[in-house]
Amino acid sequence: MSELLANRQDMRVRLIPALEDNYMYLIIDEQTQECAAVDPVDPEKILRAIKEEGVVLKSVLTTHHHWDHAGGNEKLIGLAGKVPVYGGDDRIGALTKKVSEGDRFKIGSLDVECLFTPCHTSGHICYLVKDSSGTQPAVFTGDTLFVAGCGKFFEGTGKQMYMALVHKLAALNKDTKVYCGHEYTVNNLKFAAYVEPKNEAVKSKLAWAQNQRSKHEPTVPSTIGEELEYNPFMRIGEQDVQKHTGKSNPEEVMDYLREEKNNFR
Ligand SMILES: [Zn+2]
Repeated sequence: MSELLANRQDMRVRLIPALEDNYMYLIIDEQTQECAAVDPVDPEKILRAIKEEGVVLKSVLTTHHHWDHAGGNEKLIGLAGKVPVYGGDDRIGALTKKVSEGDRFKIGSLDVECLFTPCHTSGHICYLVKDSSGTQPAVFTGDTLFVAGCGKFFEGTGKQMYMALVHKLAALNKDTKVYCGHEYTVNNLKFAAYVEPKNEAVKSKLAWAQNQRSKHEPTVPSTIGEELEYNPFMRIGEQDVQKHTGKSNPEEVMDYLREEKNNFR
């Protein structure tokens, strides 16, 4: 096999902005030209992107039931025809494949693994996608993990978010790309700078993110390795973060930070 062939990238991700600050995604398998749509809240826009790419929609991956993520499912199925709709919550529109922790399925030749991350909602799923060689993994984190932040605890606890971020997502390969559900990066990094004023990774990422946004460019994706450097919600174990909260129990540190972020302007 030639080196070129061995290094070929089978997975390609197209980011598609929707609504105010949501991101939808197409996960494209270059081997089969099949794709999956992640949180396709704007079905017409997704279908235009699919047409431009010349690929075939084979499934819908829903991170959670909130309308700005799942609200386009029924219309998309109506327009594009019946394809499996994956998700971890019965409240998800057009759901046909209920999944939970460790469930696996394919997008063409790509492997998908479901990570159950309840807290923002009680049925939230993150999708870890790899090509057949296992290289260049990507995780679609919905409203669980954002660049430099995390989702609100609408249906869960700090303990659950701690499990999701620090035990599940932080344990992924550091070069795993992070594709999240919203463009909240600049505000998240302002909060991160408040929590860890001496963290240089926060400062440089904030300057970069502000520059990206001034050009109307996305700040997504990041990587798990980067998040560990500047995301306070993934840095619960760091002395400076604990000192800021005045707590050391990781679940309490998580609850404290979330509460503080809810009121941060
Ligand atoms: Zn949500």
